[in-house]
Amino acid sequence: MPRYILLVGPPGAGKGTQAKRLCQALGLLHVSSGDLFREHLKNQTELGKLAQSHIDRGELVPDDVTIAMVRERLQQEDAAAGAILDGFPRTLAQAKALDGLLEELGGGVDAVVNIQVSMTALVRRLTGRWMCRQAGHIYHQEFNPPRKPGVCDIDGSELYRRSDDTEQTVAKRFQVYLEQTAPLIKHYRSKGVVIDVNGEQKIGAVTAAVLDVLPGDVSP
Ligand code: ADP
Ligand code: AMP
Repeated sequence: MPRYILLVGPPGAGKGTQAKRLCQALGLLHVSSGDLFREHLKNQTELGKLAQSHIDRGELVPDDVTIAMVRERLQQEDAAAGAILDGFPRTLAQAKALDGLLEELGGGVDAVVNIQVSMTALVRRLTGRWMCRQAGHIYHQEFNPPRKPGVCDIDGSELYRRSDDTEQTVAKRFQVYLEQTAPLIKHYRSKGVVIDVNGEQKIGAVTAAVLDVLPGDVSP
């Protein structure tokens, strides 16, 4: 039966960072809606152009296109064992669509990892974040610096600052998170699948804490 783990938390909580580490530990596919949009943007597809206007304003991309994009990704062969979803769902409509989709795929939401980080720390994380062009590997100038400034340790590609990590867009993204995404945690809490994790520890300690509390049947 495929396994699905969701990572939720405000922008900068460490969802992408933890998703990559957890996928390695658990042998699951990493599905990040933000990365999928950025890939479309890089390839200048119609979806990429549509998404860009929303992303640059710090708003959510409309539910219908987001759901269709994630649906297509989860139906691919490399997702047969399940996935760690990072940044999806972000609205109640997306959560309901995901429930239906996972049922079709023969699974369900095994765990929702809620990464908790204070507002002050989030701002420092986002304003110091660097990302690689090739594959979206994530760095921080202070907390997780690359060995060589401006170059990805893993694939050697150039590091760049995300255009939506500016102070103004970050403020809007926090507002959108509180209004549209935070209520999802309540939705999943009522299903008994939420695991709260202190995201204000070192990166490795957060990963260890998550692996420690995940339901036994999803550990390696
Ligand atoms: P999200 O996907 O939730 O937006 P990221 O994984 O991109 O967050 O992390 C945001 C920034 O914070 C990145 O620069 C990352 O290197 C850094 N970061 C992630 N986890 C931690 C942590 N536990 N401590 C310090 N910095 C972190
Ligand atoms: P992220 O990489 O998760 O920080 O996402 C970057 C941006 O992509 C967000 O601010 C949104 O504009 C868009 N985005 C990512 N995931 C979603 C989603 N599930 N629903 C709507 N928009 C999204």
